[in-house]
Amino acid sequence: MISKVLHITIAQALSNARDYIAYTEARILLQTTLMVDHAYLIANSDQNLISKQIYNFWSLVQRRTNGEPIAYIIGEQEFYSMKLKVKPAVLIPRPETELLVDLALERIPLDLPCKILDLGTGSGAIAIAIAKHRPLAEVTAVDYSDDAIAIAQKNVEHLNVNNVRIIASNWFKELSNEKFNYIVSNPPYVATNDPHLNQGDLRHEPQLALVAGSNGLDCIRLIITSAVPHLAVDGWLLLEHGYDQAEKSQQLLRKIGFSKIFSCPDLAGIIRVSGGRREKFLQ
Ligand code: GLN
Repeated sequence: MISKVLHITIAQALSNARDYIAYTEARILLQTTLMVDHAYLIANSDQNLISKQIYNFWSLVQRRTNGEPIAYIIGEQEFYSMKLKVKPAVLIPRPETELLVDLALERIPLDLPCKILDLGTGSGAIAIAIAKHRPLAEVTAVDYSDDAIAIAQKNVEHLNVNNVRIIASNWFKELSNEKFNYIVSNPPYVATNDPHLNQGDLRHEPQLALVAGSNGLDCIRLIITSAVPHLAVDGWLLLEHGYDQAEKSQQLLRKIGFSKIFSCPDLAGIIRVSGGRREKFLQ
């Protein structure tokens, strides 16, 4: 009996997948299936795939077609030029959050030791990016979720950072009287009934990392009103927030007595990060 052998090349597999998902996504999924890089796919576009490879590739394409985020399918996401491991227990780090890191690094001296706190670290993205660029800083990263803590810890190890300590804590709770020179956070800031929660990647991400009360401000308010006892004099608090939350965040910062209050737009022009400085003794 002559069995018909199905030959599909790398180029054909990518072209077939294009009917269902974007080309760049198909490429990333095929790279993951074959454990190769982009250059390999280009150089070997006429290589035949074996049936197991075709099957594995199509099962990933299927998951993507069902809406699962690429980052969860391949288990990683690039952030600040680092490859972070991600799972559905943590938010997928966003390009706009790189702004928070940029604004923190602008304020943190390279040549002096200091203490930095990242609240709700998730994958550890912000804490690790800052720690890598400020080797003299001692970075503390906290998260409420044990699963997130495990992922952040893995990222700290696999990215070889030795100046990040990860602690399980509900915001400031486990930090007793410890003070920091910089407090940064990308807290949950989506409103409970925001329709975006039922769209795209957000459907697959942890609610705990996204949702913060009826107007999305619960965690931002909690952080701003609880930060002062944990901020050294002249210390900065920097927060990421939603597109319509800059004014409210500034109001809260002003009410508590912060100075040098600022807000900054991301690359899409959305006011994305606000912050202020604790310049004197505040209650
Ligand atoms: N930026 C995310 C989004 O709206 C929300 C992240 C967050 O709540 N911290 O897609």
